[in-house]
Amino acid sequence: MTTLSRFEIHQPASVLEASQMLAQYGDDAGIYAGGTELLLAMKHAALNYRHLIDLKVILGLNSINVRNGSLEIGATSAHRSIERSAIVRQNQPALAEMESQVANVRVRVTGTLGGNLCFAEPHSDPATLLLVLGGTVRAESATGAREIPVAELIAGAYANNFLPGEVLTKITVPCAKPSHRAGYMKFQVHERPTLGLGLWMETPDDGRTFTSARVAVGCVCPFPTRGVEAEKVLTGSRGEVEKRLPEAADLIADAADLVDDHEGSVEYKRHLIHIFLRRVFRKALREPVS
Ligand SMILES: Cc1cc2nc3c(=O)[nH]c(=O)nc-3n(C[C@H](O)[C@H](O)[C@H](O)COP(=O)(O)OP(=O)(O)OC[C@H]3O[C@@H](n4cnc5c(N)ncnc54)[C@H](O)[C@@H]3O)c2cc1C
Repeated sequence: MTTLSRFEIHQPASVLEASQMLAQYGDDAGIYAGGTELLLAMKHAALNYRHLIDLKVILGLNSINVRNGSLEIGATSAHRSIERSAIVRQNQPALAEMESQVANVRVRVTGTLGGNLCFAEPHSDPATLLLVLGGTVRAESATGAREIPVAELIAGAYANNFLPGEVLTKITVPCAKPSHRAGYMKFQVHERPTLGLGLWMETPDDGRTFTSARVAVGCVCPFPTRGVEAEKVLTGSRGEVEKRLPEAADLIADAADLVDDHEGSVEYKRHLIHIFLRRVFRKALREPVS
């Protein structure tokens, strides 16, 4: 039987106060947003905190705005709010669409984007797309604030690069431009995704040529990974790029540390990357996906 051990909930009025509480209670304290991961982990005794610091009560930490050409999404914004936000849909539709595919409605209403990124569960969707969209996060503590590219946020499976006392306060994502094409696709059999693939391309002529590209894969490896070598073969004319998609898929698979697990073998995951790169390419170009 799994049970929760006793804990006390603290409701800070500000991020500064939350950070001070983390310092005060040390290893006995954990931050809590939606609690969809944290409480499960505590129930299974994977984590054990006597003090939970509730971030959701901090005013303004769930705001969604556009500033200087970027979306600014407060860390406690629930997946469902992001999915339904007119601001996100208008300025970065690929992000709104990816959010609509996270988990199920019950989890999306409670779980937050900040919590998802901080927990760094390997079978997650957002970080893979944020990698190709050029996302960054803001970490704040009692001693200061810093911006961290999503690429540097995740240190491994269930590990992030925050310093003690740091709280993720904001996720910043550049707005889409008319010359940008982006898409995310996932493949899922069990409760969590087996594969996630994000693609971003710059095309000055409506999909005839591609001048730059970013591609990332997640869930098949311990943490979302960019296929930097693959990105080099995803530029040029559409015909050239399409011809080289199998080569790009192999380069993505080579870059990721593919894992043999209950979701499938390494060979199977390489095969999925081939299939889903072709699909996400068409999806990013807003064409029917076969
Ligand atoms: C049934 C189920 C299915 C799911 N399916 C998917 C899926 O398909 N795709 C997917 O991507 N995810 C999936 N998830 C994961 C889900 O997205 C996460 O549970 C959720 O986003 C986590 O957010 P939270 O606010 O609940 O985090 P919490 O549980 O509150 O926190 C998670 C961790 O992050 C830390 N933390 C939280 N917020 C901050 C912050 N602002 N600063 C610093 N640290 C912080 C906490 O201390 C804790 O360690 C699924 C979860 C469940 C239960």
